[in-house]
Amino acid sequence: LWSSARETIGFWVTSVTKAVSPDCSVWLCGTDRRIHHMISKGGSEALLTALVNAGRSFCPNYTILLPLLHLLAKVGHRDRRIGMKAEEAGAVLLILNLLKHNVKYPKRAAACLWVIQVFASSVSTANLIGENHGLDVIFHLIPQYATKHLHTIKYVYPGFLQGYISGLLRLYEDWHIKDTQHNAIAIRHSLLCCLHKVTHCTAGRKALISQGGISLLYQTTQICLLSKGLVSLVEASVQLMRKCLPKTPLPLTSDQSVYSFPLPGMSHDVCYANVNSDESDDEEAEENEEAESRDYDDDLETDLNKLRLRPDPDRPRELLLQYSRLCPELYHDFELSILAVVLHYFHQSDSGLFSDTRCPTLLLFFVHRGHPPSGLRGDEEVNEEEEESHHHTMIDRLLEKHGACIPHHDPKLYHSAAAKTKSIPGFSILAFPDFWGHLPPPGHEPMVARKPNIQRQKVFEDVQRFLNTDDIINQVVFDLEDIFCEYHCSNCPSDSLRFFSSFECGNLRKAVQIRRYEYDLILNADANSSLHTQWFYFEVSNMVADTPYRFNVINCEKRNSQFNYGMQPVLYSVREALEGRPHWVRTGTEICYFRNHFCPTQGRRTTFYTLTFTITFKHNEDVCYLAYHYPYTYSALKAHLKMLQQSVDPAKLFFRQQILCGSLAGNPCLVVTITACPASRAWKDMQQLRNRPCIVLTGRVHPSESNASWVMKGTLEFLCSSDLVAQSLREAFVFKIIPMLNPDGVINGTTRCDLNSEDLNRQWCKPDPALSPTIYHTKGFLYYLNSIGRTPLVFCDYHGHSRKKNVFLYGCSVKETLWQSGSAVDTVGLKEDPGYRTIPKTLDRIAPAFSFNSCNYLVIITMRSLAPATARVVVWREMGVLRSYTMESTYNGCDQGIYKGLQMGTRELQEMGMKFCHSLLSLTKDMKALYSRRLINHIDLDHNILDHKSHNCFEDDEPPCVEEIEYSTDCPALNGTDLDSDVNSNMASDDEEEDDDDEEHRGGSISQSQQSSMKSCLFPHLIRQASIEALCEKRNTVKITHLSQVKK
Ligand SMILES: [Zn+2]
Repeated sequence: LWSSARETIGFWVTSVTKAVSPDCSVWLCGTDRRIHHMISKGGSEALLTALVNAGRSFCPNYTILLPLLHLLAKVGHRDRRIGMKAEEAGAVLLILNLLKHNVKYPKRAAACLWVIQVFASSVSTANLIGENHGLDVIFHLIPQYATKHLHTIKYVYPGFLQGYISGLLRLYEDWHIKDTQHNAIAIRHSLLCCLHKVTHCTAGRKALISQGGISLLYQTTQICLLSKGLVSLVEASVQLMRKCLPKTPLPLTSDQSVYSFPLPGMSHDVCYANVNSDESDDEEAEENEEAESRDYDDDLETDLNKLRLRPDPDRPRELLLQYSRLCPELYHDFELSILAVVLHYFHQSDSGLFSDTRCPTLLLFFVHRGHPPSGLRGDEEVNEEEEESHHHTMIDRLLEKHGACIPHHDPKLYHSAAAKTKSIPGFSILAFPDFWGHLPPPGHEPMVARKPNIQRQKVFEDVQRFLNTDDIINQVVFDLEDIFCEYHCSNCPSDSLRFFSSFECGNLRKAVQIRRYEYDLILNADANSSLHTQWFYFEVSNMVADTPYRFNVINCEKRNSQFNYGMQPVLYSVREALEGRPHWVRTGTEICYFRNHFCPTQGRRTTFYTLTFTITFKHNEDVCYLAYHYPYTYSALKAHLKMLQQSVDPAKLFFRQQILCGSLAGNPCLVVTITACPASRAWKDMQQLRNRPCIVLTGRVHPSESNASWVMKGTLEFLCSSDLVAQSLREAFVFKIIPMLNPDGVINGTTRCDLNSEDLNRQWCKPDPALSPTIYHTKGFLYYLNSIGRTPLVFCDYHGHSRKKNVFLYGCSVKETLWQSGSAVDTVGLKEDPGYRTIPKTLDRIAPAFSFNSCNYLVIITMRSLAPATARVVVWREMGVLRSYTMESTYNGCDQGIYKGLQMGTRELQEMGMKFCHSLLSLTKDMKALYSRRLINHIDLDHNILDHKSHNCFEDDEPPCVEEIEYSTDCPALNGTDLDSDVNSNMASDDEEEDDDDEEHRGGSISQSQQSSMKSCLFPHLIRQASIEALCEKRNTVKITHLSQVKK
């Protein structure tokens, strides 16, 4: 049936073609849909058969052949198997032969070239054309058609140009030199496209480099930059250079983090098992390989049963009783002295839990400067009195003289808190900003406008490193693995910057001085891992004032960054702080973020990106700190909580700090209870206290999201304040706050994971008590609250978002998830409490940084485990918390509201934390009613509320970047409509039998003499008539023989 259909169509097409003249193809191939239908019915084969039949004759009839070729170009362009079909039909060499005979006839040649281009979409067909000297024919064509028949050579398909790179480069150079009037930009551009194509593979890129391609492209581009209108050439050349720069492994001994930590129950080697096991060197696959970015791994849950299911707790009920201690407000005797009870309580319930058996096994990667590792002695006690140390004397003097009055911060308290913090390397040095404190600078900090073509300029500088090594220093000036390198590296030029990062939250693995004022910076991967590099925080000194220094963080992993959209890193100057301006400030110019040519030392599949910025320091010999975002250390949290505790009136406000559990490295994970003391001890008041709904807030599960900590700081300070709203919130609710779910990650400066090299926020389904203790116990605590009928009214996990602006919430809704996923489940009858929208709607009104339009309420599953796993989803699904949220705060700033165009500072972040509390007030009005109906599926839908069209949370909100972050390995794709319109215009234009003379009269601005000189100089090395004659060999010899006979 199929074959007869094919014949029928073939006959039909041929006869129609014969009957209706060229224009038939226009109506025949009206739409893609029709063409695809035609292909599915064997249209390509029919056309190929017709072509072979018509083309074989000694004197082909071009009235038939030409429309046929046009038709074949259009149809074949949409047929993915056209190359194979053409080979089967014997049409490949035939078309080359036709081209060879028609080099003098532009319309015919163009039609042949289109068909060749279409055929060459298959690699094997392209090879066949190449093997049969197809290129020689094509190069022979080029000098014949200068500007007039651009379209003829524009479509010289370069897929079979392998091995011709040198020729192409020389051609490009020749055109560059001779085309002084820029009449042949399209030709030059096409040559660059050809080079793009042939450098798709490793061999091509190597050949381009060995032929001096980079240097040629660099030089020609510099000249092109001088003329307007050559942008297309500049862009194509820059992309080509980026693509061909040789892949350079990072200058590291290993991709593994410098920090490793032996996990309980695992041998040391196992820690590395999950890391980059694939060391395949498959270059072509590598091009499309994404950097590890778990945010992209998500998909919507569509199984209604799964969405509704409330599974049984993941552990026996008996294990939940231990969490009763975390509800001290229920057992507290409000008559006794507060302090006495606190101490009593802690000695009873917490001391056993936090035995420090794991700590001595800490692997000390190096002992810093001979100091004993701090914080590894003895147990942590939350209320232990801080000890004063004689080291303080100098600090005391400084503080007396220069200290700023920073609310809720006390340097000495910070110092003593930090002394007990346990880090893998045993940090003994405090970073000045954390110790001294930070005040937001006065005024707002606008986002910076991107300098036009900044990325291009940076790429040129990077290419120059490769071309001209005269000014390249290439000296390691800091190496985390080599303690002797710190500060006093003997080989460093005396005027080079000094770097340091061995302090809490610090992250800088290596610094290499590239030029006098330029440094490459390499970040340390997450502990026990070779992945996740984004967060940085380091000290820099020995600078010269008013001199721009360029910094390149060369191993970033994310595919895009807000650094391309107006964001700046933050800087803290010690000198400025001592002069009374203790501010982290947004700083840096010439900022951009783009894909580079570096690769890991092993396993070359990862793609790296460069974040580059330029800093001009204000003072000579200052000590400055640079960070990805406002740092907030674990020690800062401890000190802050202590300050808060001291600030509240214990007669009115119940504030209790407890240890949820110890982290892997033995740092306490803290949980804070805040509520109002009962008005009296009367039964009624005590009953009101016991019936207050819980609000559970968590944060900083991802260590690099320091913005989450600043928002949390705002929440904590507000809840402890004397503000009337805060007061009524305390009277209405009991707040259970776990401000830092991942202390170890925060301390050791990791980006995403904890010491287990796992993303803790993906452990919620079945957290391992030994490996993810903080998640295990947080979940256990929530189970406990559930089991005593105190299911939280609200749960919110504070995060930071690196690719979007504003602050927004993710919630959970069955209906919205089913709608967005296009699920077939009928949602009309499905009932869902719309109360999950109250908080975001309120925030949209009252919080300037908040954007309701960025919120969504989709239930996500992760592809890897096929189970909902983030805190928000698990708490919603397993605990039945209707208002379960993730709050995402931007690292950058806002694009709406009164903060539009401004970067977020800590003031705005803290304000957000306060506004979040304000929004909770909206729940107090009919709280009782809401609380009794806390489970989903109970209240009728209010359809008016669901008018808002959710965004997909996994799309970037940003428009495509002005400059390409990635470099494409393809030349700009030829799209079907371009080809169609060219084919159409070729059909519509005048007579086929054009004469060459015509060209000189109409031929545009290249004079005859110019043209002939071009001809003579351009192609001497390429045109070999003999090779054209020798076309058709090797494969398909039978068919060729037949053809040659016809020719004879
Ligand atoms: Zn996060």
